[in-house]
Amino acid sequence: MVENNELRKVGLKVTLPRVKILQILDTAAQRHMSAEDVYKALMDAGEDVGLATVYRVLTQFEAAGLVERHNFDGGHAVFELSDGEHHDHMINVDSGEVIEFIDLEIERRQKAIAAEHGFDLVDHKMVLYVSKRK
Ligand SMILES: [Zn+2]
Repeated sequence: MVENNELRKVGLKVTLPRVKILQILDTAAQRHMSAEDVYKALMDAGEDVGLATVYRVLTQFEAAGLVERHNFDGGHAVFELSDGEHHDHMINVDSGEVIEFIDLEIERRQKAIAAEHGFDLVDHKMVLYVSKRK
């Protein structure tokens, strides 16, 4: 199974909860999920995995670089599978919806600003909080 290989590749032992949680993250319509979302999806699928286990496994996945954790304002931490590609996020403050975007001009400007201060840009997180235009 794909999940088993993914786990082995990052040095994690293949356990049932890890495989199930990875499957959920991989197949859910929602790309950004809180631990509670994952837990609910597991319950809906008839899987008996406790919330504490979900938290632990997600933390292990994060440490292994399998998932990224985001702490958006006004919500739970959400997790998404790392695809190795950088992107930024917009949060609809009315609905909580998470929208992904990438803007090459912004990326370029951030590197330039860091360089102007004598730095190489190592990483960045940018979140826009938005509301639908009336
Ligand atoms: Zn994302």
